[in-house]
Amino acid sequence: MNRFKNLGVSSEILKGLSSLGFQEPTPVQDQVIPLMLSQQADMVGLAQTGTGKTAAFGLPLIQLTNKKQKQTQGLVLCPTRELCVQVARDLADFSRYVKDIKTLAIYGGASIELQIKALGKGVQIIVATPGRLNDLINRRKVDLSAIRYVVFDEADEMLQMGFQDELNAILKKTPVQKNTLLFSATMSREIAAIAARYMTDPVEITIGKRNAGAENVRHEYYMVHAKNRYLALKRIVDNSPDIYSIIFCRTRRETHEVANKLIQDGYNADALHGDLSQAQRDQVMKKFRCKNLQLLVATDVAARGLDVNDLSHVINYNLPDDPSGYTHRSGRTGRAGHTGISVAIINMKEHFKIRQIEKKINKKFKQCRIPSGLEICKKQLVSLVDVVTGVEVDHEQINPLYMEISEKFAHLDREELIKKFVSLEFNRFLEYYKNAPDLNVSETKKKSHDRKERRRGSAAVKFNSKQKFTRFFLNVGRRQGILPQGLIGKINGIPGVGRIKVGKIDIKRNSALLEADSRFAPQILDAFQQATINGKIVSIEVAGKDYGGNRSGFPKTRRHKGRKQMAR
Ligand code: ADP
Ligand code: MG
Repeated sequence: MNRFKNLGVSSEILKGLSSLGFQEPTPVQDQVIPLMLSQQADMVGLAQTGTGKTAAFGLPLIQLTNKKQKQTQGLVLCPTRELCVQVARDLADFSRYVKDIKTLAIYGGASIELQIKALGKGVQIIVATPGRLNDLINRRKVDLSAIRYVVFDEADEMLQMGFQDELNAILKKTPVQKNTLLFSATMSREIAAIAARYMTDPVEITIGKRNAGAENVRHEYYMVHAKNRYLALKRIVDNSPDIYSIIFCRTRRETHEVANKLIQDGYNADALHGDLSQAQRDQVMKKFRCKNLQLLVATDVAARGLDVNDLSHVINYNLPDDPSGYTHRSGRTGRAGHTGISVAIINMKEHFKIRQIEKKINKKFKQCRIPSGLEICKKQLVSLVDVVTGVEVDHEQINPLYMEISEKFAHLDREELIKKFVSLEFNRFLEYYKNAPDLNVSETKKKSHDRKERRRGSAAVKFNSKQKFTRFFLNVGRRQGILPQGLIGKINGIPGVGRIKVGKIDIKRNSALLEADSRFAPQILDAFQQATINGKIVSIEVAGKDYGGNRSGFPKTRRHKGRKQMAR
């Protein structure tokens, strides 16, 4: 018997669930469904990603809809188009055998005319992104006056994306008498703010520990020099031949760069970020879901809430600013009973972030060594041999050709044959990893770094005289009215990073050079890239190389034991 029946789920919905293979409710479903069905209450539901929150609110939402009434009664708000489409599709699946119910996804980037047309026919449940819904409200194409349920899915992300005004405008159009529900993986400031603002005495349902990392996720980190981040990524990927992973970057720009490099280097990778058109994003997601794509390089926002199961790895190419961001990321793996690995690539200065995250998720990271070229080659070889031995041979098809093939191979003995055939598949790796250096930060180096940190009295990043600056070139200058204080103001206005140290500024007639803390280079590039100054679209790029704070313009020579070995 389908266990959802015990929760009071109707037989029509049960039929849909059975055909989806949902037999046993998940813990969050166990708690939310009966409560929603039996009482009118606002609710905050906190449960890790992948625990089935969509069905937890979606099933009652469908069941509680008055099918005789065509007006919109339920509204689900989602931060991104992808999530919106996914939730709408889930609701359609759940209600496949329910008569007289219409659901609709409303999101930007798709034809507004089609959405208006669909709305005209009567839709009882709308799943929407705030921007497009607000647009339709302003055009008077949506009537929210009969809404009885509002659900915020991944609410904190909506606020972080700056949808506050839209949310206010939307909520204003809904009746006072209604139930407001909110679902998220983590409790955050944003969630508390939404609860305070839009809810009355919400029931809080927390599954598992607050903000706990998923149970079957292993957390690992690799420590490398910042300049070796990409090379480290490649090794980690190469060392897991069957990897199926999202690689998280901090900015669109970084996402773009990492994806491009991977593609150039022959990996099966693509990027997902806000700059892509809807069609492009759909295509990338489709390829990724059906595993035609192995590596999806994404920003947090683009990947939030996406339901992709059985990822083998989540890779933090750069850690997020906020430890709760890590919880969201790592929750993308280890889903639906699978085990997963969440990997962070860090530099020496970022060690404190690992400690912060460990506190938050109440789990320990394991520090791993970046594998050597030889280790990777062995791993790849074993995997290749496994594939070969596992391949099914269609004897009927092969037999007529076999004589000819075997004659051609006659002059090779078994050993030679194996070697040749392995080389065919494998020379790329052997070539690339020939003389590959050790990327791990050497222990002596790290210890001396730690000592220095301790002397400074804090493990957190602090500035010192050796701080690294990056020089940026801007295509605007005096003629466009650029002033040093304007540039500094802009840099200090970048959200979420605090004060960024600025070095020399040199403003010329039509251009400007600007030095600023290297660690924030991606954010600075992003901030200026989209700006217009006095009508001119700014372009910004990194001018020349990073250099130490001694300002000699040359990198300092360092002497340490590992050096020779590394240069080999
Ligand atoms: P969340 O919103 O909590 O991150 P989702 O609602 O996206 O999680 O569900 C994650 C995955 O688990 C989806 O693929 C969904 O189809 C599946 N799922 C949810 N509930 C069940 C269930 N009771 N039985 C089987 N699979 C389920
Ligand atoms: Mg969800």
